[in-house]
Formats: sequence, structure tokens, C-alpha cells
Amino acid sequence: MAEQLIISISGMRGIVDENLTASIASEYGCAFGTFLKDTCTGKQKLSVCIGTDSRPSGQMLKSAVIQGLNAVGVDAIDLAIVPTPSVGIMLRRLDCDGGLVITASHNPSQYNGIKLLLANGIAPPSDAAEKIKKYYFDKQFALADSSNLGKATSNNQTDDIHIAKVLAIVDKEKISTENFKVVLDSVNGAGGPITKKLLAELNCVVSPINDEPNGLFAHTPEPTAENLTGLCDVVKEQKADIGFAQDPDADRLAIVDENGTYIGEEYTLALAAKYIYSKKTGNAATNLSTSRMIDDIAGKTGGQVYRTAVGEANVASAMMENNCIIGGEGNGGVIDLRIGPIRDSLVAIVLVLQLMAETGKTVSQLASELGDYYMNKEKFTADKSQAQKILDSAKELFTDAKIDTTDGCRFDFEDGWLHLRSSNTEPVMRIIVEAKDKNTARKYIDAVLNIRKKIFG
Ligand code: MG
Repeated sequence: MAEQLIISISGMRGIVDENLTASIASEYGCAFGTFLKDTCTGKQKLSVCIGTDSRPSGQMLKSAVIQGLNAVGVDAIDLAIVPTPSVGIMLRRLDCDGGLVITASHNPSQYNGIKLLLANGIAPPSDAAEKIKKYYFDKQFALADSSNLGKATSNNQTDDIHIAKVLAIVDKEKISTENFKVVLDSVNGAGGPITKKLLAELNCVVSPINDEPNGLFAHTPEPTAENLTGLCDVVKEQKADIGFAQDPDADRLAIVDENGTYIGEEYTLALAAKYIYSKKTGNAATNLSTSRMIDDIAGKTGGQVYRTAVGEANVASAMMENNCIIGGEGNGGVIDLRIGPIRDSLVAIVLVLQLMAETGKTVSQLASELGDYYMNKEKFTADKSQAQKILDSAKELFTDAKIDTTDGCRFDFEDGWLHLRSSNTEPVMRIIVEAKDKNTARKYIDAVLNIRKKIFG
């Protein structure tokens, strides 16, 4: 598989020992440490905390990154195998100047990556990311002399701290009286141990599957319908109230209802928002590719939904700027700023359980009260210039739509919306469409595919 190492705003991602090696990871640690030394002036000693998901290559890459950080005089705090959101929480708790997560999220196990977080818990904005990239490519490292090298220590408090923070936003007693029967599929990623502890605190009867954080992914790790048939079966067999599926770094969550039916990742944010808006009023933020369900929920209380370019950091920044009470992405990523500006499957879990406990309704009942939209996501190969031609033609065709060009093009119609955007990481154009029914959705997708055919034959 000859793929390139991808270096983007949120970090780097590649195939281990093919294009992502120990020496690359070490130099990336040097580059990030040098950037922090440049920007966090006035501090005697800088520190960065580091977590990994469960991939077998995590240990090797972590050691290499720590070497790089130490070489430029930055201390490293090793959190071991923990969810990505846990690193965000710990970096602020330990007053670190940055955070690193060794993860390739939902990608297959041969992949790994290094994700960067600044002291505020968000990925670097684009100007900072460009600087880090430049330090890396120019090998411009502020190496420390032997008396000023960084040190590596470890910290094993992550689970307790993360769980306590998450429990503080719900009524633990209320959820505990329900004795919910839960099936948890952590795909042998980082989420298993901490999520089992959280559910035990909430008096849930848990049937865990794939809960060993050994990186041997029991199924294709993206928490989509086709990959979660095993979870659906166990929910049905066990007559459970709900099934939860995490991705390997446990920032995303998908839900299976009490009948063993996968309800779709879009519903995770919608259900979490439904609970939040039952308690308070305020604004929300999400990306342009996410369902209108959140607009419907927020709209009932007069709340505004801010739409951003795709990318967790964009949503998190918009949430902080606009004081949002909830936000996230339609891929199952829920953000609650009381916990941190980062997608967190544990947050999504407690908010949904609280909603069930307070309403006494099943997951299928709660889901049926939302939207009733039909959504479809497709993609096709297109490089940047091909994608631009398609966007230009689409703008000429859909003259009746309200157009948002923050990230590709989103066309909002009376009966639905269509979002066309190029992937940041591969030569692919994505089409996301949502409408009241399947035929309407198909109409918009076919219109785009026709444009593509006319341009490229
Ligand atoms: Mg993830």
C-alpha cells in the first residue's frame, strides 16, 4: 500500500514502518516541542501529556515522540492507553502546555497517527499548524543541552479524573435507579476499561464485547451500521436497553436501540442535544455535514446553531466563541464544554442515559421523536481541480438554494440540503444529502452525479 504520510492541521497519519517510523515520530516530537518553546515563553519548564489508543504500534511511536520532546527540553507525562478525550482533560488538569495522542482513530490497525492538542485542549489553528509543519520539514529543532533535557514521567489517574468530570454533569442517582442493561462494543480500542468503570458507577448491567484494549480490532473499526452487526445481535439476545459502540480512540459513539437496530451516528448528537435542551436554553455548534435534527431541537427553545467547516477543532472553536451549551459532529462526536472542547463518547453515553432515565422512554421511542429525515453519504474520486469544476457547475444548477461556501458548498433547499466538499486527506469528493424522504435525497445526489458525468464522461 503505497500511500503518503499525511501531515494536516490536527497532526500526522500514516502506515507504521512504511511511512510512519520511529525516527519520523521522534522528529515530530522535536518540532512540536520547539513550537511550544517558541510560543509559551516565560515558562521555565514546559510539559506535554501523551496518551495512545490500543494499536500495537502505539508504544513504539510514543517512546519515539517522548524522546523528541525530551531532546528539546520538554517534559513528557505518559498517560498510557487512554481515550483521546481523556488526554484533553488531563492536559488541562495537569497544567500542561500541550497534548499528544497516538491514534489513527477509526482507521485500520496498520495505520497510526500523532494528534496535537494545544494547552486549551483544541488542535492547533492553521497558522500554528503551519509553523509546526515548517519546523518538522526544515528540521529546525531547539535542542537542549545535557543539563536542560526533558524528563519522562507517568500518571495513572486519568480514568478517575475523567469519570468524575463526566458524572458531574448528570444525575448519577437518577440513572442508577434504572439499572439499565447495556451492551458495550469498544472494538478492543482504548475505550473499554474506562467506559466499563463509568457504567458500573451508574449501576448499569453491562455486557461488554471487544473490551480488551489490545488493538486487535474485532471488526472494521468505524462505528457504522455494516460494522456493528455483532453488537446488534448481542443487544437483541440480551434484551438490553441500549448498545453503545466506540471507535478505537473513543471519541465517537454510535447507538443501537433496544430492538437491536443501529439508529445511525447522526442520532448520537441529536439525542445528547435533546437532553441538554430539555434543561436549558442556549446556542449549539456543529459542522455543515451534520443533520438538521439539531436545528429542530435548538430552534424549539430559540437557540441558534452555528455551522462550521468539517473538523473537530472548527466546531470546538465555534462553541467556545459562542458560549454553546452543546455541539459536535454527526459522526457520533459529542462535545460538552463543561468537560472539554473535544469529542467524548463518555459524555455522549451519560447524556443519553440521563435522557432515558428522565423520560422513561426507550431509545427507539426517543429516536422516533426526532426529525425523521433521510440522509445519504456518497463519495467519488476527484482531485482538487475536478472538485472545483463540480462545485462551480452545482452553483449554476441549484440557483434556488441558499449557499454556504465555508467548506466546499452547502446548498440548503426547502425540502433538504446537500453538502459537497473535498476530503482534506485524499483526492475524494464527498456528497452528503439530507431530505424528508429518500426520493428527494436521490434527486439531489443524481443531479451531482450527472454533473460529474458531463464533466468527466
Ligand atoms: Mg476517533
